[in-house]
Amino acid sequence: MISAIILAGGKGKRMNSSISKQFIEIKGKPIIYYTIKKFNDNKKIDNIVVVLSQEEIEYFKENILKKYDLKVDKIVIGGAERQDSVYNGLKSLENTETDIVLIHDGARPFISDRIIEDGIKYASIYGACAPGVMPKDTIKIKEKNNFSIDTPNRESLVSIQTPQVFKFREILECHEKVKMDKVVVTDDTMVVERYGTKVYLYDGEYTNIKVTTPEDLILGEKLI
Ligand code: C5P
Repeated sequence: MISAIILAGGKGKRMNSSISKQFIEIKGKPIIYYTIKKFNDNKKIDNIVVVLSQEEIEYFKENILKKYDLKVDKIVIGGAERQDSVYNGLKSLENTETDIVLIHDGARPFISDRIIEDGIKYASIYGACAPGVMPKDTIKIKEKNNFSIDTPNRESLVSIQTPQVFKFREILECHEKVKMDKVVVTDDTMVVERYGTKVYLYDGEYTNIKVTTPEDLILGEKLI
């Protein structure tokens, strides 16, 4: 069984908006609508879990699920940080037949079927994978005083997107360990890497943006 966890438990402080970023509309429909619809319509996905903050669950049921006739299998309450939300999503799948799990940012509505399907394929072969693109800018490492100290070779840099896709038992076990070890991570590839799993990086798409700041909404209108 292939399950998708769609994360929508964050507040999106960088958006300067009173509503959570996943509920902001692009061309009259909320961002999270587009994201869930992609997974709803993909034939490879058997099971969808959406992670939300407790106070947004009722709003989500009425104004998104019912209104747009979307189907999700489970709604799970998120945690303080992204990694806590992922953990809650994974725990909710513990007693299912899930073999492969895709973990996707609710705020990435322009995900393509190709990225979803390549993710499933490579996770089945390698155990863990993530899509990425080469950064367009030169990336610098800086010191605290703002002076540049290094310029990594761009050929070896990848800007990582979601979905990050894993063999289910392995990612669950690694998340349990990270929780016990009280380690802070910003994505799920870091979780498995910490315990020695290599993550296969495959081609993402520049259009698979995470809607994060107000400029992204302008681009989003065009991409939709
Ligand atoms: O904050 P960031 O942009 O990294 O969030 C990525 C995704 O994780 C978003 O879709 C956001 O809703 C989700 N998230 C979450 N629970 C949190 C923080 C973020 O589900 N506590």
